[in-house]
Amino acid sequence: MERPQATSPRANLYDLSPEAAAAALAPVVQPSFRVRQVQEWIYAHGVDSFDSMSNLSKQLRSDLAERFSLAFPIARERTEPAPDGSVKYLFTLEDGALIEAVYMPMGSRTTLCLSSQAGCAVGCTFCVTGFFGAGRNLTPAEIVGQMHRVRLDQGIPTEALNVVFMGMGEPLLNFEHVVTSLEIMEQAISPRRVTLSTAGIIPGIEDLARLERRPNLAVSINAPDRERREEIMPITKKYPLDELLELLKSFPLEHGREITIEYVLLAGWNDSQRDASMLAGLLRGGRFKVNAIPFNPDPALPDWMKRPTDAAIDRFAAALNRAGVPVTVRRSKGHEIAAACGQLRGRTERRRAAPKA
Ligand code: SF4
Repeated sequence: MERPQATSPRANLYDLSPEAAAAALAPVVQPSFRVRQVQEWIYAHGVDSFDSMSNLSKQLRSDLAERFSLAFPIARERTEPAPDGSVKYLFTLEDGALIEAVYMPMGSRTTLCLSSQAGCAVGCTFCVTGFFGAGRNLTPAEIVGQMHRVRLDQGIPTEALNVVFMGMGEPLLNFEHVVTSLEIMEQAISPRRVTLSTAGIIPGIEDLARLERRPNLAVSINAPDRERREEIMPITKKYPLDELLELLKSFPLEHGREITIEYVLLAGWNDSQRDASMLAGLLRGGRFKVNAIPFNPDPALPDWMKRPTDAAIDRFAAALNRAGVPVTVRRSKGHEIAAACGQLRGRTERRRAAPKA
């Protein structure tokens, strides 16, 4: 996959790494300290028009607009805030593809959940995005654009954000564009506040381990043994659980950091205390914490998949804790607004497909 080149007509500056953007701007923006000013408008303020760059001359703004663009995706729908304050955004891309982002206020912090692909080929059977199938990779501008559109709509400064790549798509299957968007975000947000969530794409995790500045890593495990994991995550036949765990146990982590293990809880299927003990056994020898996510039912997903009772969720979490594994339960965040991966888009697709009265 190629990185967008600055030489194409009207290159979108949000598609370029900061280094490439500086090189592209240099012949146009003089004196050279103004390049940094332009980049500040882009990275810290997330502007989508050169006219907003009020400390630049009118002539320079017009020269920039002739050569470059700052286009972002357009938000077509925004849900009412859920009781926990979460708001979900549905974006339409230039080619009509639909993607989602979620705003999640959490006390003094705000987390934005972004999509990395307009669909997903991984095909996890508990996921509505997987149900609708593969879609194209998002460009860096489409990824960073979600962040700025949501944050500007909610009135939040860039530096106050936490970002999670946990929306639609598998970020490690769109590696280059995700890395460029991480480089752009890093201009205003510490990588420690960015988390990339993967279904466990082994070559992608190896590539991530080689990056100089790495985001936090979250890996979707969802079952305490290989057979059950392969049943709901068919891609894991290619990237088996034992090989994945071995890699995660040697993944380079900064002091005080852990890998988050995501575990979607399905009633009567992977939520017993025995399952919790088996999971704890798998994680022994590594620096992990578990994020247990009670399943969000959806008409597109298999009927047998059910959300466990609160009591079952508590018993599972307690069993993990007893085995020495730190665990958090993502109980309701976004549940009321169909915040699980792809559900808002799924509803919109179903409305589109419904026969007109
Ligand atoms: S859970 Fe993630 S990796 Fe699996 S199908 Fe959904 S978007 Fe793709």
